[in-house]
Amino acid sequence: MHIQIQCCGIVLMLVLFYFYVRQKRISLYTQKAFWSVFWTTFVCVVFDVLSIIVIQHRHEVSEPFAKFIAKTYLVTLLAVAISALEYMYVDIYVNMDVYRKQMKKYWVLALLGAIGTYAVPLHYNYSADGTEVLYTYGPSVYVTYGVSLIFFVRVFYLMYKEKAKINPRRREAVCIWLVLWIGASQIQFMYTNLLIVGYAGAIGIMVLYLKLENPETNLDRKTGLFNSNALYQYAKEFYAKDEDFSLLVIVFASRAYKNIRLDRRAAIKMQIIEYLMKIPDSITFKNAEDEYFVVFTNMGVAEKRVREIRERFQESWDEDKEGVVLPRWLYLPHANVVDKAGNLLYLVRYVRQEEKEFSETNFFNVGQEIVDKMRNEREMERLILEALEHDRVEVFYQPIFSTAEHRITSAEALVRIRDNEGKIVPPGMFIEIAEETGLIMKLGRVVFEKVCCFIKNHPLEHYGMQYIEINLSVVQCAYEHLAQDYITIMEQYGIDSKYINLEITESASTSAKMTLIKNMEELMGYGVKFSLDDFGTGQSNLNYIVDMPVDIVKFDRTMINSYFENGKAKYVMEAAIHMIHGMNLEIVSEGIETKEQFQTMEDLGISHIQGYYFSKPLPEDEFIEFLEKKLGA
Ligand code: C2E
Ligand code: MG
Ligand code: MG
Repeated sequence: MHIQIQCCGIVLMLVLFYFYVRQKRISLYTQKAFWSVFWTTFVCVVFDVLSIIVIQHRHEVSEPFAKFIAKTYLVTLLAVAISALEYMYVDIYVNMDVYRKQMKKYWVLALLGAIGTYAVPLHYNYSADGTEVLYTYGPSVYVTYGVSLIFFVRVFYLMYKEKAKINPRRREAVCIWLVLWIGASQIQFMYTNLLIVGYAGAIGIMVLYLKLENPETNLDRKTGLFNSNALYQYAKEFYAKDEDFSLLVIVFASRAYKNIRLDRRAAIKMQIIEYLMKIPDSITFKNAEDEYFVVFTNMGVAEKRVREIRERFQESWDEDKEGVVLPRWLYLPHANVVDKAGNLLYLVRYVRQEEKEFSETNFFNVGQEIVDKMRNEREMERLILEALEHDRVEVFYQPIFSTAEHRITSAEALVRIRDNEGKIVPPGMFIEIAEETGLIMKLGRVVFEKVCCFIKNHPLEHYGMQYIEINLSVVQCAYEHLAQDYITIMEQYGIDSKYINLEITESASTSAKMTLIKNMEELMGYGVKFSLDDFGTGQSNLNYIVDMPVDIVKFDRTMINSYFENGKAKYVMEAAIHMIHGMNLEIVSEGIETKEQFQTMEDLGISHIQGYYFSKPLPEDEFIEFLEKKLGA
């Protein structure tokens, strides 16, 4: 038996050990589990060598002692197997109590395995001349291998069953490590003079180190601070333990340095990093976007420390007193307002985007309120996504009455979503979120297709109808290919463009306005008409009507209501009617609920009336019923 290969394994592990301890680390359970894998493997390889030496000198050291050492080597193999299992469990059950409960039976089994290994006999296999021991075998070996096998099978089973909970890199690394072990022991089994198991174990540890446990993966290369990956792991453990911490996020957008001379910026940044590293009672993390996360696990001092840090930032970082850096601050006194590390990072991003929520001091205290708002928005986003996926987007139709023809001549298509309990969710609850998340593009398209499908199945002229009005979001209007997409859909359904009227609102930015006009021209060229929605809400003004090639202006309900409630508003609306009619455009009054309101609008010469007075928005079949009843009447 030779020990050269095993000795290489020992050297390899010592080198790894050197790199590992030299680096800055945060204390994580997974790292502790790696430590235990590392040490058990190390002890195992050492005992491998020891047992070979002792067996060779068994006559000098006494037979029972040689066997005891050989059996101890077997027991260390068991220890490696159980530490492999621990290493998996610690990732699956970050909560230590659950982890310990799960592991208990395996520790008992390992203990029984160890007792068994010592208790039963171990035999030597000798070379042909009977002088040299080639390998050991017998019940003691079988007990060790049997119990280890249970652990290894369990590890593979966990990898398969708890796939979702295990980080894929971890799965891959652990797989390589175990395949090395098992493969090496197979080879050794066939070629008994090739003692490579210990060495393979050491190589396996190196794989784990390189792929998973290299502390450098938790460090920001430039600053040496812990990075966002480390923050995520660190926070994950806190949430798993149900413990709380405070978090200060310092955001250095470029304007934070606006007072600082360009050539001084780099030096001042370094000074700030050094300062942040040394804040007492805290650990500082940094992400790729120059945001610093200062975590306080001792919440009693957090508030005081935050005050001190902010005070420091009121002072100059330069001798000339002009080096004041102005970051934005986001303080979470209780990280447990959310329930997961992922949600914590999402919350920070969310608050950061809600620029308007920051006060003039650039300081924002993150409390329950904004968390609820975020949760609600995420919930809505999920609802929209699900509705799109499961075809739960519905279009309701609200009839529009023509005062000239004294009958219903058009309708507005209004989107609804049905939640998974079958309840209708109105657009007021989701349109804004759909716009913020970009989902409005898909949603708007679905609505348009559904309306086209409706027109195809129910020829409008049959019901005395002329066109359907469909809302367009400003986000859609700013999309370059909107016109082409909509024309394609109309062609697919074989819909004449005269049946379509698109409602636009005043768009926010001028660049969006250019695209909007391009889209409008293309669609108008195809025969589609346009209305200007929300007139009188402050979202629309008269200039906009002058600029925009619309045929219809829709008076918002709020404007109609003020007409009836406020003397001055009356004059404004009458003047607007006069001017709009002067431009040869039609008007739709929305939100007409009573006969008196209807009468007044008719007297004012308004051509189209929409409102509960005629009907609320109706689902497709009820709308058809409504139209048929009108036809019969
Ligand atoms: P809007 O386009 O101004 O639509 C008119 C809203 O006023 C509708 O609300 C309608 O139900 C309501 N309404 C009509 N008559 C009366 C009335 O007499 N009394 C009262 N109290 N309300 C009346 P809805 O359906 O909740 O839609 C709200 C807004 O959501 C719409 O305002 C529109 O801006 C947006 N929206 C609806 N469907 C779509 C869509 O498919 N795409 C986009 N982008 N936005 C849509
Ligand atoms: Mg509308
Ligand atoms: Mg409107």
